Amino acid sequence: MESSNDSISALESKVIELEKRLEQSLNLKKESNNSNIPNCPICYSPVELPITINATNDKKCPFSQKNPICFLCVRKLMNGKNHITCLAGKGCCGKIVVRGWRTYGEIGRNSHDVAEPSMWKALGNNGVTICKRCNTDCGDVYELGQHVHSQCPQRKIKCKRCNKLVIANNIHSHNNNCFTRCKLCFEKICDQTTNVSVINKHYCKKLKIGTCNVCNNIITIENINTHRDCTKIDKNSQEYVFIKI
Ligand SMILES: [Zn+2]
Ligand SMILES: [Zn+2]
Ligand SMILES: [Zn+2]
Ligand SMILES: [Zn+2]
Ligand SMILES: [Zn+2]
Ligand SMILES: [Zn+2]
Repeated sequence: MESSNDSISALESKVIELEKRLEQSLNLKKESNNSNIPNCPICYSPVELPITINATNDKKCPFSQKNPICFLCVRKLMNGKNHITCLAGKGCCGKIVVRGWRTYGEIGRNSHDVAEPSMWKALGNNGVTICKRCNTDCGDVYELGQHVHSQCPQRKIKCKRCNKLVIANNIHSHNNNCFTRCKLCFEKICDQTTNVSVINKHYCKKLKIGTCNVCNNIITIENINTHRDCTKIDKNSQEYVFIKI
C-alpha cells in the first residue's frame, strides 16, 4: 500500500509537471501572437507602428494597404528625398512625390496627431508595443505611436537653426553650441532646436540710435549718458535768449 508521503510527493511532481506545461502553452501563445504581426516589407521584422503610403493627397498606395510599413522605416526612406518609389514599383504607384507628413498615414488627420490614429487605436495591443530605441513598453500600439511621436528620448527633432536632426536627449548640449547671438553685443538671443522655440525680444544696448552733433560719436543706449557732457552750454553762449519784461 502507498504511504501518504509517497502520494504527496507524487502529487507535487504532478503539479510541477502541470505548471511546466502551462508555461509552455503560454509561451507558445505569446509566440503565435508575435507571429500574427506581419513583417515590414523594408526591414522584414514584425511591423512597428504600421503605416500606409499616400500616393497623392487623396489616394492611398494599394500595396502599402496590404503590406503596412514601419513608421520609422518610411521616415528613413523619405529622409532628404523629393521622390520615393512605391515598393511594388510601376505596377502600383511608381514615383511618389514626398510631401512631408502627408506622404503617409491617415488622410485628413490633424498635423499634430500620430500617423495612423484610427488604425493604431483599432489594433489595441495586437502589434508591437515596445519601443525599439528605448525599450519602453507602451502597452498598446496607439500609445507607442504617441511615445515615438513626442516622448521617446531617442526620437529625432529637427533643429530649426541648423536644420540637423538632433536626438531629443542631446538637445541641451546641442543648444550650447548652436544658438543665435546678436552681432553687435554678442548676447545669446535664443535656442531654436526645439519646435517650441523661445524667441526673446532683444533690446540691444549697442545698437546705433543716432550720431551726436557735438562730439560726432554714435549714440547707443549704453553710452547715452556719456553724451550728457556734450549738452553743456557756456554762460555767454549765443544759445541764451534774454527775455525783456
Ligand atoms: Zn520596418
Ligand atoms: Zn503603390
Ligand atoms: Zn522610445
Ligand atoms: Zn542646431
Ligand atoms: Zn545686441
Ligand atoms: Zn556727444
